Amino acid sequence: MATKKEKLSRLQDLYVHELKDIYSAEKQITKALPKMIKGASSPELKKSFENHLQETERQINRLEEIFQRLDETSRGPKCQGMEGLLKEGGDFLKEDATPEVLDAGIIVGAQKVEHYEIAAYGSLCTFAETLGFDEDLELLKQSIEEEKMADEKLTELAEAGVNEESVS
Ligand code: FE
Ligand code: FE
Ligand code: ZN
Repeated sequence: MATKKEKLSRLQDLYVHELKDIYSAEKQITKALPKMIKGASSPELKKSFENHLQETERQINRLEEIFQRLDETSRGPKCQGMEGLLKEGGDFLKEDATPEVLDAGIIVGAQKVEHYEIAAYGSLCTFAETLGFDEDLELLKQSIEEEKMADEKLTELAEAGVNEESVS
């Protein structure tokens, strides 16, 4: 592609590259979650998105702390993976669906987002560990735990009725 590229020669370069990617992803998520809160019908689903929006703000703060420590800017290319996932989820919100089916579909989209984040933070944890960045690792572990909990909560909501309500 035509975008100017810096040479990545050390694991730390890849670490920074991936930090910028998840930073962009988290930023995009803070803009998408309010739409998902609005689109969801189940009060519990709304609540879990509201909670995850607050967590996402904290995850962004953690990443900013890491960039500061590395003396790196958070600016980088837009995460295209998240852009695609959120576009797909946003399009689904516009479907003519019953509230129950819409909720079940919103959960599918949200879980795809969580899995992207879990993959990203998982790799970042491994890199931080390898590089001996212990303080970073602590912060990244907190974020990956929140993503895993968010994913589990969505599974719970799907199993505990949101899906069942859409069967009949
Ligand atoms: Fe996140
Ligand atoms: Fe990405
Ligand atoms: Zn998340």
